[in-house]
Amino acid sequence: MSPTQAGHPSVPFLDLAAGVAATRTEVQAAIDRVLTRGWFVLGPEVDAFEQAFAAYVGARHGVGVASGTDALHLALRACGIGPGDEVITVPNTAVATVAAIEMAGARPVFADIDPITMNMAPASAAAAITPHTKALLPVHLYGQTADLHPLLELARDHGLRLIEDACQAHGALHRGRPVGGIGDIGCFSFYPTKNLGGYGDGGMAVTSDPHLAERLRLLRAYGWAERDRSVIRGVNSRLDELQAAILRVKLTHLDTWTTVRRALASRYQNALATAGWLTLPGDISYGRHVYHLFVVRTTQRDAFRQHLAERGIGTLVHYPTPIYLQDAYRDLGVTQGACPIAEQAAAQIVSLPLHPHLSEAEVDLVTEAVLAFTPA
Ligand SMILES: *Cc1c(COP(=O)(O)O)cnc(C)c1O
Repeated sequence: MSPTQAGHPSVPFLDLAAGVAATRTEVQAAIDRVLTRGWFVLGPEVDAFEQAFAAYVGARHGVGVASGTDALHLALRACGIGPGDEVITVPNTAVATVAAIEMAGARPVFADIDPITMNMAPASAAAAITPHTKALLPVHLYGQTADLHPLLELARDHGLRLIEDACQAHGALHRGRPVGGIGDIGCFSFYPTKNLGGYGDGGMAVTSDPHLAERLRLLRAYGWAERDRSVIRGVNSRLDELQAAILRVKLTHLDTWTTVRRALASRYQNALATAGWLTLPGDISYGRHVYHLFVVRTTQRDAFRQHLAERGIGTLVHYPTPIYLQDAYRDLGVTQGACPIAEQAAAQIVSLPLHPHLSEAEVDLVTEAVLAFTPA
């Protein structure tokens, strides 16, 4: 808790410095190890982290790359997806998901979402399939699994790839299995704010298909089968040894942090159960939520955010504008009304503070402030 100017306690949306303190000694030892070794990009730390993280999500192979965006971009390219192809995703995601589809040269097509989970609605995805469709790209939004069973069935029936955007869902479960290890390729980000975050950019694509793993390895480093021998056109998207060493340390804490996130979420759920004007997130029958974000909904979102801001409570909106309505993507020709459920959600959602270094007392400050809001 840090005092606001008025002297009241405040709760920032995120506190990355508190996270640093929790593992500082171990991380410093890992950094020292890398400095002593003098090997800085794609080396033993990356190898070890790839193995550990792939095993964590139940995949055979992990390929470390420079970001979650690149994991998605290279996953699509590894599947041979490019110009002329369509990839079905959702409009309520990080712009990175759509940027990655376009980096591969393919066209993003938007499916609407389920009104409860706010993840890809299988029926809407089915309706979006055309002869050009090559892949489904559902997002495990906010840390909760997408409804993968019907999506996998759809992919199988239409000969499509299923690529998981698991950038917000490290350790989330779908019917008992970790997400990311279920589709053809799972994509993760290790951006500092993610549930497993480094101290810089990083990402990983995981797969149990040895052919796709090989393609991913080639693509991330100039298409090199060996030094100076390019067998396909690749890019430079490598994970560095410092990030991998830091992430190896942090991976050993991930389950504990997930447990804390879930306990704090449950504290919010209990305290806010009586606020009938507020819709709360929660587990679904087929999944375990890891609460990357704790996203509530109200029809009076803007007034509610203002109320919380006046009480020193930091909130954010993930995400305020469906991607096809953003200026940069107007030329896709997708207009207002294309995904009505996603558009309605965008106007109602707000993310409350939730991270593993938030205290129960801070959650209580937030819930007191929430309950002091009088809906009009
Ligand atoms: C963070 C994120 C990405 C992109 O990851 P970067 O590492 O920032 O490139 C992609 N998709 C989703 C859903 C994300 O949350």
